[in-house]
Amino acid sequence: MSHLSPLLVQSSGICAERGEGSWLYDQDGNRWLDFTSGIGVTSTGHCHPKVVAAAQAQVAKLVHAQYATVTHPNMLTLTDRLYEHLPKGLDAVAFSNSGSESVEAAVRLARQATGRPNLIAFRGGFHGRTLAAASLTTSTSKVRTGWQPLMAGVSIAPFPHAYRYKQDMDTCVADCLHELDHIFATECNPADTAAMIIEPVQGEYGYYPAGQAFMQGLRERCDKHGILLIADEIQAGYGRTGKFWSHEHFAVKPDMIITAKGLASGYPLSAIAASKALMNHGYPGSQGGTYGANAVACAATLATLDVIENEQLVSRADTLGSKLRQQLEALQKQHDCIDEIRGMGLMLGLEIVSAPHTPDGDRAARLIKHCETNGMLMLRCGSQGQVVRWLPPLTVSEAEIDKAVELFAAALKET
Ligand code: PMP
Repeated sequence: MSHLSPLLVQSSGICAERGEGSWLYDQDGNRWLDFTSGIGVTSTGHCHPKVVAAAQAQVAKLVHAQYATVTHPNMLTLTDRLYEHLPKGLDAVAFSNSGSESVEAAVRLARQATGRPNLIAFRGGFHGRTLAAASLTTSTSKVRTGWQPLMAGVSIAPFPHAYRYKQDMDTCVADCLHELDHIFATECNPADTAAMIIEPVQGEYGYYPAGQAFMQGLRERCDKHGILLIADEIQAGYGRTGKFWSHEHFAVKPDMIITAKGLASGYPLSAIAASKALMNHGYPGSQGGTYGANAVACAATLATLDVIENEQLVSRADTLGSKLRQQLEALQKQHDCIDEIRGMGLMLGLEIVSAPHTPDGDRAARLIKHCETNGMLMLRCGSQGQVVRWLPPLTVSEAEIDKAVELFAAALKET
């Protein structure tokens, strides 16, 4: 390990050799209950047998069917299978490898299709580390520092973080929409604006749902001004929040959806979806890459979809998410350090504080270190690392949830 770049920082001291379901194992046979799912990726659990079988079969058949050169059956079948889960009218899918890459693809398409330069992103959003994606990201300055000046043409509008602003949600939404209109009036003319990009449930900043009133406020403004609404569903989509896409909670239809992470159970695949009419306004051949829609990744994604459908993982995320939330609420009653519980489905975050509204990243770090020492892997997020997140696989058992809550309760008592 001595030659691994110090630029790649790990949050745990674990060297994982294999995974099975909700568990990660090291070379000595020690195991950890994995409530990170590789940051919301292995929604079907580690090495789900159906995903493994599909990938293994494909590896022996064809690995690299370069998609600027040929099509391949898995990619074509996958577009049809994804179409069944996409909102009506979003009937074209373009693949890349990572979340960031698909964010770039969405931005490129939005600018090409509208002929407009500007973009609006929302405070606290995380969209990735590549240049355009980092320019849209304000969840932590770590992603931007030393990388500036970033891409021009981006305005950051407020997101309804009612907890942080110490407001009720209705007041907060009204203020945020008011501020957005002010941004239109003062720095980013709607006629120059190609798209707004939003995580309907913010991930890295601390698991904040945008809520129906805010999302509908954005939709109205996009319709009025011919601006595209892009939903970054990379972390919250694909069943995790208890609906297939997180924006479905808020009864709005985006013009473009970006998906990655849970899409392929850990194989590198991402995609943007939009209407064919919109995609026809982009420049053919301007999107693509060497590895996109890799045949093994597509096989794993088709198997992932089978597992999600057959094991009803979307409704499981809803039911088990409610059960987990209830157990966390019981802990909150006993521990003042849990100031707020946020999120939806099996995407929950605990705001850890030293006093009300005083984020305590050090305590959150001690909590997850205690969990690691005692056999559970967790992650933090939030601008000060003060949010402990709960991201189990959607296949997690009720007994594993009980065990996780028990381990976390012990950490709360002993740190
Ligand atoms: N958007 C969101 C909402 C994300 O959570 C992430 C990754 N955490 C990304 C974009 C970037 O994805 P990737 O790391 O695959 O580039």
